[in-house]
Amino acid sequence: MATSPARILGELRARPATRFFRCLTRSVPGLAAAWWLLLLVRALVPAGLAIATGLLVGRVQAGSDLTAALAVFGVVFVASQVSPSVHQVVGALLGHHLSSVLNDRLMAASLGPDGVGHLERGDLTNDLTTARDFDLGWTGPPMFINMDFIAQGLVMLLGGIASSLVLVGFAWWAPPLLLLGWGSTHWLLRESGVWRDRNTDEVKAARRHTDYAYDLATEPAAAKEVRLFGLAPWLLERFTGHRLHLHQLQYDATRLRERSLAGALVIVLATNALLFGVLAHRGYAGSLDLRAVVTYAGAGFGSSAIAFGGLSWALDGAAAPVVAIERLEVEMARAGALTASRVAPRPSSTTSGSAAPEIRFRDVTFTYPTGSGPVLEHLDLTVPAGASLAIVGQNGAGKTTLAKLLCRLYDPDSGSIEIDGVDLRELDLVAWRSRLAAVFQDFVRYELPLRDNVAPLGADTSVVEGALEQAGALGLAELDAPLAKGYPGGVELSGGQWQRVALARAIAKVHGGASAVLLDEPTAMLDVRGESEIFRRVLGSTAAATTVLVSHRFSTVRQAELICVVEQGRALELGTHDELMALRGRYFTMYDLQASRFHDERELDEHGEELVHDHL
Ligand code: ADP
Repeated sequence: MATSPARILGELRARPATRFFRCLTRSVPGLAAAWWLLLLVRALVPAGLAIATGLLVGRVQAGSDLTAALAVFGVVFVASQVSPSVHQVVGALLGHHLSSVLNDRLMAASLGPDGVGHLERGDLTNDLTTARDFDLGWTGPPMFINMDFIAQGLVMLLGGIASSLVLVGFAWWAPPLLLLGWGSTHWLLRESGVWRDRNTDEVKAARRHTDYAYDLATEPAAAKEVRLFGLAPWLLERFTGHRLHLHQLQYDATRLRERSLAGALVIVLATNALLFGVLAHRGYAGSLDLRAVVTYAGAGFGSSAIAFGGLSWALDGAAAPVVAIERLEVEMARAGALTASRVAPRPSSTTSGSAAPEIRFRDVTFTYPTGSGPVLEHLDLTVPAGASLAIVGQNGAGKTTLAKLLCRLYDPDSGSIEIDGVDLRELDLVAWRSRLAAVFQDFVRYELPLRDNVAPLGADTSVVEGALEQAGALGLAELDAPLAKGYPGGVELSGGQWQRVALARAIAKVHGGASAVLLDEPTAMLDVRGESEIFRRVLGSTAAATTVLVSHRFSTVRQAELICVVEQGRALELGTHDELMALRGRYFTMYDLQASRFHDERELDEHGEELVHDHL
């Protein structure tokens, strides 16, 4: 049946709160044990205080020795004063530790897979945002503060239950009555007072839109366009609109429901009137002594702590990143995994990497996991060892995808990429990537000194300077100057200067032993002459390597020994510039189109002749 104990247990184990506490206990066992122990002490204080007070009053009434009663009272009193502060410190420490553990787990999940599919999947964005931003205070208090909310909620709940259990001595029906009375508030007020739905997709989407508009307005990257396109009012409207929506969601979720509040009040008043009425009656009637009356009245009062607090809200907030990370660990590992090697990596193929390799795409078909159809289809292409090959084709033709497959960031669905006749999947991945120097369109601008931008893993100054010189980037900045204005002595580079630095990084890697070079439109930000010149330099300094270049500038493309036109996922034409021109096919058409465009420009340019010569 649907409600078998195993199933209920399974559902309980899968609940976010359970997963949170499990993660907490496994991640930082010692500290978690101390936190639970202190929580227990705090939870027992109200019941202990009721008992100790009753004991003391009883002794005073009886006129007997007060030492033991005072000692008990003193212990409970000290515990009540000391335990919250200590618990708070332990909780904050625990929260910090848990945050670090979750951060580490996200780093491992992101960096672990050999491929990049897991970071290109839109459907993981929500989890990724939750897992990354949970400690920034946007979706709720940071973990180290939230631990205190959780502690308070649990202390009250458990303390209330403990207090009500003291009443077993008074009447068997008293504890269940109070549990039901005060417990009903959890059910009746569960949608009031606090915003529990902070992590719904709608809230996350509204928050992402708000943050994005906020970033666009406050970061320099968009400043120019915002002004030039007159986007400021639109941006402001977008920001306030989404923020308003966010507040509306919050408001809708947190309104006090008047009926539930009235219902809760009636139940609580009725149960307490019954309890205290019977207690008073028995007290007057003499069937309960003063000690018992004091104890039970105190316990009755203490049981009120069961009433609805912020526990579930705090727990929801704390559990969300745990659940998100647990999900991401599974999904990212799956999405970022490369297909298993068909055979174990060949040790011989991993190290013989100094010679320029022949690169061959053999009947390669590839579809992105989230794509609708194949980007590459039965593509065949050979780059001879030591040759330079330029790939041209329209936007979306699959050029960058080809580059990604060569880096083995994805594996083809069928066919293979062969390096000197060996399937890339049979090569040691790290060894292959160390042989490959690549610059992508969206290369990284490391906020690090120029030296580290050229050689992130370190290299001799002579190598760094040599690479910078070959990339035409010598003298851009001091080698030790950070390349970001926000740092002391920081230097801001232009887009074109950054591209030269990125090229220097690839050249330095070639000096360090890489024998294959991949340039995916690395110079799109340079002017035509700059690109042409730099590509000449790069080809010169990487002459011994096999070079694959993606570019749409024909002045650059024609410098390559071989040119391949990619269209609809296939290698449509392959040959030298002269061969492809003679063919009068797609290359010829594209070349002609670009040439005529620049021809028109020539009439406007006083250096026209020279410019056209550079372009063609
Ligand atoms: P090119 O470099 O020739 O401009 P790409 O190789 O970048 O083209 O893209 C080829 C096609 O693959 C495009 O239709 C693009 O939308 C799609 N595509 C690129 N990256 C992804 C991805 N991560 N997931 C799904 N589709 C993608």
